[in-house]
Amino acid sequence: FKSMKSKLGIIGMGVMGKSLALNFAEKGIGVSVFNRTVAGQEEKVASTFAEENQEYPFLKGFDSMEDFLSSLETPKKILLMIPAGEAVDAQLDQLGWLLEQGDIIIDGGNSFYKDSNRRISVMKEKEINFMAMGVSGGEEGARKGPSIMPSGNREAFDAVSPFLQKIAAKDKEGGPCLTYVGPEGSGHFIKMVHNSIEYGEMQAIAESVHLLKYGLKLSHPEISRILKTWLGEGLNSYLLEITSDIFLAKEGDQFLVDIILDAAGQKGTGGWSLQTALEYHVPYSPLAEAVTARQLSAQKSYRSELSKVFNHRFRAFGEDKVILMERIKNAYSLCRILNHETGFSLMKEVSDENGWDLDFSEIARIWTNGCIIRSGLMEELIHIYKETDSLLKHKKTITKIRELKTDLAYIVGLGLQHDFALPVFSAAANYLLGRITEDSAANIIQAQRDYFGAHRYQRKDGPEGGSHHTDWLSMK
Ligand code: NAP
Repeated sequence: FKSMKSKLGIIGMGVMGKSLALNFAEKGIGVSVFNRTVAGQEEKVASTFAEENQEYPFLKGFDSMEDFLSSLETPKKILLMIPAGEAVDAQLDQLGWLLEQGDIIIDGGNSFYKDSNRRISVMKEKEINFMAMGVSGGEEGARKGPSIMPSGNREAFDAVSPFLQKIAAKDKEGGPCLTYVGPEGSGHFIKMVHNSIEYGEMQAIAESVHLLKYGLKLSHPEISRILKTWLGEGLNSYLLEITSDIFLAKEGDQFLVDIILDAAGQKGTGGWSLQTALEYHVPYSPLAEAVTARQLSAQKSYRSELSKVFNHRFRAFGEDKVILMERIKNAYSLCRILNHETGFSLMKEVSDENGWDLDFSEIARIWTNGCIIRSGLMEELIHIYKETDSLLKHKKTITKIRELKTDLAYIVGLGLQHDFALPVFSAAANYLLGRITEDSAANIIQAQRDYFGAHRYQRKDGPEGGSHHTDWLSMK
C-alpha cells in the first residue's frame, strides 16, 4: 500500500483530523495526512502520527506539503480539519497556488456558512471544487462514525461520497448518517444550527439537574439514576446519557463535577445561529438564552461578588419529591421539543430564502447517530418532518404540548421563586405562549411607537395593510 497513491488527504492533525484519518485508514481507504510546522512548536506532527499508528497500512504522514500533495490520487481530494476563520482562508490561499483544475477541497471544520459561500465562489474562479462539510460527533464520533453534512459542489460530493459513506455512523436502518445537504455553505449552516440545538439541550439538562440537586436535595448517584430512568421513559439522548455518567465520576472522595469550574466557554456556532436568526427575523429565544447563559457563566468573579451582595442561595422545595421529579421531567421533555422546533424553524426560513430546498426529515435522519444531539426525539422527527414542516402543527406534538405545558410553566414559576436561574426553561415557556397566543401585547407596542415616533399602525377593523396615525396628545 505504501507505494500506492492515497485516495484523499487530511490537513490538520488536531483531535478531529487524527480521529478521521484513523477512521478512513481502518476502512481501507488510503489517506495521507499533513500538519503545518510552526517555529518553536513540535515538528513532524504528521509523520510521527503515522509512525505511531503503523498498524494502519493505509495511513501515510508527510511533513512537507509538496510530498503530501504528490502522494494523492488525481483529482486530489483534500479535507481541511483546522480552526474556522483566518486559518481556513490562509490554507486556501496556499492550496489555490498548488492545486490544479478539478481538484477538490473539503472544509470539514466549523466554518461560518457565509464564509463558505464566499470561498466556494473564490475557489470556483480557480476551477477548484470546494465543499463545505459539517462533521459532528466529537473525537469519538470522528474515530468510530460521525454524522456528516456535506454541501456545495455536487460533482465533488459524488467523487468523495463512497469514502464518506464508509466512515459515517449508521442510522437504525443501516444507512449512513451522510447526505448531500444542498448548495453553497448549507452543510456548514445546518452544522451551526445543530450546535445551537446542542447548546439548548445542554443548558436544559443542566437546569433540570440543578433543580434536582439543589431544589430536591438529591445526591449525585440519585441524580444519575433518575436521568437513567428518564432515558427509558421516552427521553433517551446521548447528552442525557453522558450527564448521567458525569454524576457518578469521582476523583478520590470527591465528585468530579463539583470540582469543575462553573464557567462555560464557546467557540462561535451558538452565537452565529443567534446572529442568523436575527438577520432572518426568526424567533430564537430558547436557544439564544443558552448562549447568554454561557456568557453569564463565564463572568465568574462578577457573579461571585454579586452573590455576596444579594446573599443569593438556592432554596429547597418543600413539596412532594416524587411529584416534583415527574414535573421536572415533563418540563424538560417539553423544553426539548421547543429547542428543536426553534432550530428547525431557523433552518426552514433560511432554506426558503436561499432556495436551498433542505430536506428536514433527511437532516433529522443523519442526526440520529454519530452526532451529539442524537436522541429518540430525533428518530421521531424523521417521520414528523415527512408530514409537516412545522413541528408545532403536527398532531403528535400538539398532544404532547397539551400534556406537558402546565408542568413547564409550574416548574419555571417554582424555580424562579426559589432563586434558580432557568434561562432556557423560561424562554421555552414564553416562546410557546408567544407562538400560540391569539392576542399578543403588540397592539400596545404599535400604539406606543405611533405615539412617540408617528410610526403608524394597522387596525383590526381596517383594510389589511392599512396604515394609520393618531394625534395622541389631542386625545389626552
Ligand atoms: P484542534 O485540535 O485545535 O486542531 C486544529 C488543527 O489545525 C491542528 O492540527 C493545528 O495545527 C491546525 N492549525 C491551526 N491553525 C492552523 C493554520 N493557521 N493553518 C493550518 N493549520 C492550522 O481542532 P479540532 O478539534 O481537531 O477541530 C478542527 C475543526 O473541526 C475546527 O473547525 C473545529 O471547530 C471542528 N470540529 C471540532 C469538533 C470537536 O469536538 N473537537 C467537532 C466538530 C467539528 P497546530 O498543531 O500546528 O496548531
